[in-house]
Amino acid sequence: MLAQWFHGFRRTINLACSIGGTFALLSACSSDVVYDSGKAPPGQVYENCQKYLRQFDLDFRPVADRSTGACRIRDAVQVSRIGQAKLSRPAIMTCALAVQLSEFETVVLQPAAKRTLGSPITTIHHYGTYACRNARSKSRLSQHAYANAIDIGILETASGIKTSVSRHWDEAGSKGEFLKTVGQGACTLFHGVLGPDSDRNHQDHFHFDMGPYTYCQLRPVDPRRP
Ligand SMILES: [Zn+2]
Repeated sequence: MLAQWFHGFRRTINLACSIGGTFALLSACSSDVVYDSGKAPPGQVYENCQKYLRQFDLDFRPVADRSTGACRIRDAVQVSRIGQAKLSRPAIMTCALAVQLSEFETVVLQPAAKRTLGSPITTIHHYGTYACRNARSKSRLSQHAYANAIDIGILETASGIKTSVSRHWDEAGSKGEFLKTVGQGACTLFHGVLGPDSDRNHQDHFHFDMGPYTYCQLRPVDPRRP
């Protein structure tokens, strides 16, 4: 059921992009629009997630459930490699996030790297997944409080090229193009995507999460938004 849901979801996005859909969610197909489409699909689609995860090309091990106050880790795994790319350090994350990172590596990250940088990504330098804290500038818990988010700062190719979100996001050359492609592609796979244009807390990294809301903030937030 999970596989069907993921594939169905992506098909819907791709089809809508190709025909120029008008729903807010589909603005991810455009390069200059912020969307915020509200509630993400319900959590029960992740039933038997770890069994499903074994179909993907990644190194992981199950992690026991735990809680710290209101923060909690459920149905999580520790991931050290995703496809051709190792993580700069092993990271604990929800199984749902691991599934989506694997999809992201296959359909977004590597094709973009090979096309714009001429070499596959072999190291994903990240700034963490689990942190028991509130969302920046908000009173509610961050998706990091559930290990349901990852912050990615630098992507490194097999040839040693390092592309940094903080240094190259606004660059006109291949590294800037690569990061834009990666960000826009991420918006079709993850529920939440933040980047340098979303706010000053994300100047040096992409934030990808699988939380209950869908949003893609890769341009300045429209002040007309409610
Ligand atoms: Zn984050």
